[in-house]
Amino acid sequence: MTQSAQTKSTRLTLDQRTLHQADVCVHCGLCLPACPTYTLNGNENDSPRGRIVLMKGLAEGRLDANAPVLKHLDLCLDCRGCETACPSGVIYHELIEESRAKLNADRKRRFDEKLIRWITGRVMTRPKMLKLALLPARLMQRAGLWGVMSKLTGAVLGPRVAKMQQMLPASGPLWPKAIDERFEARQPKKMTIGMLSGCVGSVMFGQTNQQTAELLAHLGCEVRSPREQVCCGAIPHHDGNPTEAMKLAKRNIEVFTDCDRIVIPIAGCGAMLKEYDHLLRDDPAWAQRAVDFVSRVRDISELICELDPPVPPHALPMRVTYHDACHLAHAQKITAPPRRLLAMIEGLEVVPLAESDLCCGAAGTYNLMQPEMSTDLAVRKIENIRATGANICVTGNVGCAMQIQSQADAVGLDVQVMHPVELLHRAYLGDTETTDAMV
Ligand code: SF4
Ligand code: SF4
Repeated sequence: MTQSAQTKSTRLTLDQRTLHQADVCVHCGLCLPACPTYTLNGNENDSPRGRIVLMKGLAEGRLDANAPVLKHLDLCLDCRGCETACPSGVIYHELIEESRAKLNADRKRRFDEKLIRWITGRVMTRPKMLKLALLPARLMQRAGLWGVMSKLTGAVLGPRVAKMQQMLPASGPLWPKAIDERFEARQPKKMTIGMLSGCVGSVMFGQTNQQTAELLAHLGCEVRSPREQVCCGAIPHHDGNPTEAMKLAKRNIEVFTDCDRIVIPIAGCGAMLKEYDHLLRDDPAWAQRAVDFVSRVRDISELICELDPPVPPHALPMRVTYHDACHLAHAQKITAPPRRLLAMIEGLEVVPLAESDLCCGAAGTYNLMQPEMSTDLAVRKIENIRATGANICVTGNVGCAMQIQSQADAVGLDVQVMHPVELLHRAYLGDTETTDAMV
C-alpha cells in the first residue's frame, strides 16, 4: 500500500482526558477478535491494543510519528467495534480521533490524497457543490459512457479515485430536489421532530429522507427539515478539523432549538450529532446547549420504537438480512430497535447475517483513503450476505449502503441494499414499489 510521507518528528500532545483512555487499557486483548483490520491481517499493530500502545508511545515521546507507525494508525477504521468488546470501557475513538487530528496538521500528502480530502471536505459537505460535481457523471451514466470514463480516469488518478467512482450509485436524478421543509402530522400530534437530511444523504438518498418524513407524519409527528441546517460535522471532525466541526455543530444546535426530538435516518450523521456534547465540552457558552441537544437526538429506529407504533397493516413477503452499521451498533449501541421494527412486518423473513457487526469497510471516507483494506472487508461482507440466500440487505447507514451495493454489483451478486425506513414505509403506507433499491 502506498504510504503518505511521514510527519516531522514532533511529540504528540494529547488532552489528559484523552490520554487517560490509554491508561484504562489493561491489554487483555478481548477486543482483538472484534477488530476488522486485525481479523484480516493478524498484525498486533493493526489491533486496538497495538494501536493504543503506539499512540501512548507517541504521546510519551518514546516513538516518532514515522511512516510505519502512521500506517498502522491510518489503517484503523474508527469503527468502534473494539469499544463494544472492551470490558474496561476504553473509549478508543477519542484516542484515535484526537491523535489523527493532531498528526494530520504536519503531514505531507500525495496528490491523490489531497484531491480526495478536498472533495470530501469541500464538495461532499455542501449539497449544491455535490450536485454540481455529480452532474457530469449522471449525464455520462445516461449516455452509457460512465463505465469507460470511470475506468480511464481511475487508471490515471489512482485507486482512491477509482474507488470513489465505483461507489456512485448506478442511477439517480440529475438534480436531486430537497424534501419539503414541513410535514404535518396525519394523526393527533405526538411531537415535533427536527430532521437532518445529511449532505450526501440529501443528494443521493432523497427518497429515504422523504419516506422518513412521511412515515413519521403518518405516526403522528410534525416534521421540520429547515433549509438553514448544515452538515453534521462528521467529515471535518474525522479529518482533523475540529474548528469547522464545532462551527457546524453550533449552527445545527441553533436551527433545531424548538424541536422535541432531532432525527436522522443516517447512522453516521446520527453518531456525530450525539458527539456534540463532547465536541463542545470546553466552550462555556455552548456546553450545556450541546448536552440538551444530544438528549433530544434519536436514530430513526429508536424514535419509531419510542412512538410505540401499531403493527403495520401491509405484509411484505420478502427474505432479507440485516447488516449492523458500525455507527449504529458500536457508536450508538443500537442493535435491537431496527430488528424489532422489521420483526413487526408480517411476511418479512429476516435471515441472520454472520459477522453482521463487523465493518463493511465503508467507514466514512476510509474507503477512499484506504481502498485496499476497504475492498477486502467489502468482499468478506458480500460473502456473508451471499451465504444468507437473501436478495435484500437492510442497513441504516448510507455509507454502508453504497459500499455493499457497489461491491455486490462489482461481483454480480443479485442483492439490493435497502434502508429499514423503506420497508417500514411500505408496510405502513402500502407502497407498491416493493423492489426499488435504496441506491
Ligand atoms: S479489550 Fe479494552 S482493555 Fe482489553 S486490550 Fe482491548 S482496549 Fe485494552
Ligand atoms: S476502531 Fe475498529 S479498526 Fe480501529 S482498532 Fe477499533 S475495532 Fe480496530
